[in-house]
Amino acid sequence: RRNGEGRGAGGGRYEKTPENVSDLGAKTETKLYNSVLELVGNTPLIKLNKLPRDHGVPCEIYAKCEFFNPSGSIKDRIALSVIQDARQAGVVNNDTEFVEASSGNTGIGIALNAAVSENKCIIITEDNSSEEANTINLLGAEVIQAKNKDAIAYRLKDENPDKVVILNQGDNPVNQRTHYENTAEEIVSALGDVDMVVMGTGTGDTMTGIGLKLKERNPKCVVVVAEPDGSVVFNTKDKEHPFLVEGIGGSNLSITIDKSVADHFEVVTDQESFLMSREMAKKEGLLCGGSSGTAMAAAIKAVKALNVGPGQRVVVILPDGIRNYMSKFVSDQWMEAHRFIEPPAHTMKWWKRP
Ligand code: PMP
Repeated sequence: RRNGEGRGAGGGRYEKTPENVSDLGAKTETKLYNSVLELVGNTPLIKLNKLPRDHGVPCEIYAKCEFFNPSGSIKDRIALSVIQDARQAGVVNNDTEFVEASSGNTGIGIALNAAVSENKCIIITEDNSSEEANTINLLGAEVIQAKNKDAIAYRLKDENPDKVVILNQGDNPVNQRTHYENTAEEIVSALGDVDMVVMGTGTGDTMTGIGLKLKERNPKCVVVVAEPDGSVVFNTKDKEHPFLVEGIGGSNLSITIDKSVADHFEVVTDQESFLMSREMAKKEGLLCGGSSGTAMAAAIKAVKALNVGPGQRVVVILPDGIRNYMSKFVSDQWMEAHRFIEPPAHTMKWWKRP
């Protein structure tokens, strides 16, 4: 019997066969952890199967699935390492209050760390009713809504300079080092030399850290940036305009980004990004966020543009999962309202909607 078939009604006895090695029954190694923070990093690299086939891609594509981090995104790595670094430097102790201006995954990552370490944590966001703010609140951090997030963070620091620590996510060199020493090392240890790596850039720390290490290992490794249509970080020829994909392509660039690490960029529209995220769910079972779709769509374009061939290995970074986007691209209605998909035939056509 094949993997999973015949379970439930009418199913027979489980038989261990070579085909069902991925069955839960074959997993015997269960580790114990002292806290959820021990699960940060070491995320799985998963080979894609149907998606490259359906897009006529001849090379191997591996997804680095950062949504396996405890708070659901790549930012857990950054939050953990900046706090550890500051603790070692004696800047952070048990009485420290973390203050961070962040609307998204960074704030969630710091709030998760603070929950475990019992440090007080204040996250300043632009929108305290967002899904992300709800998650930060659930983790026990205080959420402050402010337009000028950074100014408020520095005011809180001025009011209580001995206790408050601003981890200064964007511009902390530890961020890039973490990707260089950890995220990239994980890729190298699993795959050896890699021919191409693809990701979006928010701060650019992921790209700079991973790109530098993979190029050190294989100077021919092509570093590809996934640029949202409307962003002019790499695509300086087109006009800047708003876009809906979150976490990348914006004004959040860190001062430590080294743009010269990137060899190539591909422009990806919102529609291409969200359709790709949805396709990854449907074809590979990967429940990833919108910027993951941007990265995967860019990877497929780059593989074709640069003729990456059979046997070559491409790694695509998937920075987060679907949780922040449940009422956005995950929802068919949202996709229809933005005209990214057509409504099903039985519903009113969108051009007739009020
Ligand atoms: N995708 C998402 C969803 C993110 O939150 C971020 C971080 N802003 C990124 C991608 C980009 O990561 P980095 O800041 O390292 O460039």
